[in-house]
Amino acid sequence: MGHFIPLSVPNLSGNEKKYVTEAIETEWVSTAGEYVNDFEKAIAAAVGVDRAVACQSGTSGLHTALLICGVTRDDMVIVPPLTFIAAVNPVRYIGAEPVFMDCDDSLCMDPVKLRRFCETECELRGEELFYKKNDRRIRALTVVHVFGNMADMEQIMDVAKEFHLLVVEDATEALGTKYLTGKYAGKFAGTIGDVGVFSFNGNKIVTTGGGGAIVSTHPEMLDHAKHLTTQAKSDELNYLHDEIGYNYRLTNLQAALGVAQMEQLDKFIEVKNRNYQRYKKALAGLPGIGFLGFRDNVRSNCWFYSVTCEENCPVSRDRMIEELKKRGIQSRPIWGLIQDQIPYLGSNTFELEKCFEYWRKVVNIPCSTNLSEEDVDCVVEALREILAGETV
Ligand SMILES: *Cc1c(COP(=O)(O)O)cnc(C)c1O
Repeated sequence: MGHFIPLSVPNLSGNEKKYVTEAIETEWVSTAGEYVNDFEKAIAAAVGVDRAVACQSGTSGLHTALLICGVTRDDMVIVPPLTFIAAVNPVRYIGAEPVFMDCDDSLCMDPVKLRRFCETECELRGEELFYKKNDRRIRALTVVHVFGNMADMEQIMDVAKEFHLLVVEDATEALGTKYLTGKYAGKFAGTIGDVGVFSFNGNKIVTTGGGGAIVSTHPEMLDHAKHLTTQAKSDELNYLHDEIGYNYRLTNLQAALGVAQMEQLDKFIEVKNRNYQRYKKALAGLPGIGFLGFRDNVRSNCWFYSVTCEENCPVSRDRMIEELKKRGIQSRPIWGLIQDQIPYLGSNTFELEKCFEYWRKVVNIPCSTNLSEEDVDCVVEALREILAGETV
């Protein structure tokens, strides 16, 4: 057995130390400073937009996104069941209610079900959509680009336009994912809907320790995001505030780390793609398991890799995770379904079906950007052994 192979760890082998040291030496460590501006520019440039607003986390970015969409406590927001809970919690921070929409085989929101939901369960009154069951307005939907795969934005945007829904893209896992062909050719995840949010948590493709960023196709909404994330100060000198604001600003210290990380984004995406292809080829012949792909007309950042335990898999999902652990390899099941978690019991749902299937069968395997080819081969060999019933 070789060394321990973690699931997903940061890779700080570039200018991180240099820039952070500089931030400390110049004593610009807090929420003002050039690195914050540079980091925002780097993110904007990387996803082909004019401007980005950095914030404290992906979660705070998603909260802000709903606020600038004008979601109120009387509203509902359409959300996914099979993702990290931070995609949904901000709906409740505002006091609004989620309605859970199933995923398709991409693990992202099913656009066909989304349309059927709007057509059968809702009613358009003027330019507002109402949920017939409780007569509440549905203001927005949050679509998550799960594991770096692009959701079907062509269809989702069509439905959103037709039913007057604002679209928040949770692109926290999909920095750098972009369409290669089709209506949105060249467009990056996060830049197609009304607001997009990225995360720079430690397990994401690029990290600031903790951090996030907001982009928007509406400049005035992005101005509002900046305002809200910086305490909604309307008069700098006299400390006047015209709204309830938040302390959601990223610090210069974190941004210094982020600038160094962004210099390496292309390289990280390359490594993730290369290792994805290596896994894919090697796992293809193994019995009882599948390996989830990414959308064809997309260059994905291939953030997370997913093995699936199929019907004929000789070991259970949990047994597979345990056996990998015995061999020094960290893996994990996919997230617990959000509608089944305590704070969301009894929530409204629509045709949930696929989410249960994938919840049961997905196992995420090591995907760090410093994962070597030997590491990939080692994980594959361990899976082969486990499926063949060999013990350690
Ligand atoms: C990581 C993540 C978030 C939250 O980002 P933080 O920076 O950790 O707050 C939200 N949604 C999804 C889908 C994520 O993977």
